[in-house]
Amino acid sequence: MPDRIQLLPDHIANQIAAGEVIQRPASAVKELMENAIDAGATEVKLIINDAGKSLVQVIDNGSGMGDIDARMCFERHATSKIRSIDDLFQIRTMGFRGEALASIAAVAQVELKSKREEDEAGVFIAIENSVVKVQEPVAHPRGTSFAMKNLFFNVPARRNFLKSNAAELRHIVDEFTRIALAFPSVFFSFTSNGQQLYHLEPGSLKQRIVQLMGSQLNAKLVAVREQTDYMNITGFVGKPETARKTRGEQYFFVNSRFIRSPYLHHAVMNAYQSLITSDSFPLYVLFIDLDPAQVDVNVHPTKQEIKFEDEKIVYAFVQAAVKHALAQFSVTPTLDFELDAAIQSLPSIQQPFTDKKQEAVLGSSIFRAFTQKHQAHLIERRMATPQQDLGSLAPAAAAGAGITARQVAEADLLQLLNTYIVVPTERRLLLVHQQYAHERVLFERLSEASREKPVATQRTMFPQSFELPLADAAIMEEILPELNTLGYHIEPFGQNAYLVQGTPADVEALNVRSQIELLLDQYKNFRADKSFSPREKVIRSLSRQSATRAGIPLTEREMKQLLADLFTCRQPNFSPQGQPVFVEFSAEHLASLFAK
Ligand code: ADP
Ligand code: MG
Repeated sequence: MPDRIQLLPDHIANQIAAGEVIQRPASAVKELMENAIDAGATEVKLIINDAGKSLVQVIDNGSGMGDIDARMCFERHATSKIRSIDDLFQIRTMGFRGEALASIAAVAQVELKSKREEDEAGVFIAIENSVVKVQEPVAHPRGTSFAMKNLFFNVPARRNFLKSNAAELRHIVDEFTRIALAFPSVFFSFTSNGQQLYHLEPGSLKQRIVQLMGSQLNAKLVAVREQTDYMNITGFVGKPETARKTRGEQYFFVNSRFIRSPYLHHAVMNAYQSLITSDSFPLYVLFIDLDPAQVDVNVHPTKQEIKFEDEKIVYAFVQAAVKHALAQFSVTPTLDFELDAAIQSLPSIQQPFTDKKQEAVLGSSIFRAFTQKHQAHLIERRMATPQQDLGSLAPAAAAGAGITARQVAEADLLQLLNTYIVVPTERRLLLVHQQYAHERVLFERLSEASREKPVATQRTMFPQSFELPLADAAIMEEILPELNTLGYHIEPFGQNAYLVQGTPADVEALNVRSQIELLLDQYKNFRADKSFSPREKVIRSLSRQSATRAGIPLTEREMKQLLADLFTCRQPNFSPQGQPVFVEFSAEHLASLFAK
């Protein structure tokens, strides 16, 4: 038997490795534009043809390269940006792996022209399939021009995999936008098939946002700016009315690098909680800057996902900063003033996390200090109701359930039409919708429980089994793990059949089968909605389904319990579906109703 193991030829190894970095024309746009930024360019021009399939060209006025570097830059792991492993923890540049140009050269025809300030002549290199075809002097201004032609000309399988021009162009616009946002002081232009799509003069971040996303935003951006020793956050968020039902204008940059982070997105959504409905997305462009040693950008080849040394701090900080910013534009002027002052005096906003940066690395202890004093927390509670002055109720909720419970206990409650609870307080009157209130309470309870620890399960004495139609069984498969973290204990039990061993301790376990059927029905309503995770959908369905309905008579005791629970919610104003939970009539408003 001959030996069978062979080394792959270089150009094939390069093609395979290239797949990680260059997936589509937009990947090359990103890499080439980042290189231009790293080279210190103040002008970057992007030119593409056929959605980048036949040409992606980036021209910059950066440092340029000499003959040797121009040749070297196409070697795999050729980089001028790190020299030792330690450098990896101090990265300030966009690139560092030295893979992009080698990858591009492996899967396209590349023409490079470059010149340094100090050189007489520039250098021209043509390379194809990782093989240099031409290298000669050329007249060129200081800076670099990279042209990538006919992407995947030598890898037909990948070429066929590319999407329509419209889809590929979309990806390119996305990459261009991210980089243009991250560097507003740099001039950018973007020309597609000979037509100029963008011409972005250098300016402030606000100007850049408006250039890219439309002048209607000009008066609708709220500045975010918080600085501590540990991290800084700057940028803009949209006023609540700019929120849209579709995603698209949400940008996080960490040390100037665009990142995707569902976790931090959640922090922002949290900050907006009572200001927009839960199914809409606010606009934000936020820059987080912190010591590079606190971030690992090395976890993903295209570097869009990063790991924070302590992501809880970052979460709390982002949330607090956005809340603080939102508190500054006024809905109710007097209330706003108070809120603003209260928040501004909070130690978490005023003070650095710590004097010594070293301590910052012991992240979790700082985080504890930050939340244990309920600082981030307090902002949250206060801010949950900026539009509706709840008078004595809101501060009570912030201070804890004790006071609220007492206040509610003192009030004489009245149920109206078996649907609304009338709550008189000193100078106002609230009308609370019992079903929406209960949905809110259940929703928060389940969300919290599923985040922190599994919900207590109550084992059934006699396990029941049930069967589902095929379509429902498919949904059941999808949500079973979620149900089990929420306190159910259900196992598959043969074809399309399930065995119920336990139910959540505070859900009545009378007829689990019909409970599950109802739940599946509810879940179907949310199923197609991509903005929620399966878990959130299950929680929404469960809280919807288990909530007291409108039309059910409640005892005084039940009403009191419900209100006490409601006003300790983080966000009592809206139901999970976005309906208002209560309306408020102030003494003035009531008086005005009787005005002549
Ligand atoms: P990385 O950016 O990770 O270092 P690349 O493959 O993208 O790796 O680039 C390799 C090297 O080529 C860079 O480190 C840089 O020294 C040089 N280079 C690439 N593009 C430019 C440019 N536009 N201007 C000047 N130098 C460049
Ligand atoms: Mg690079």
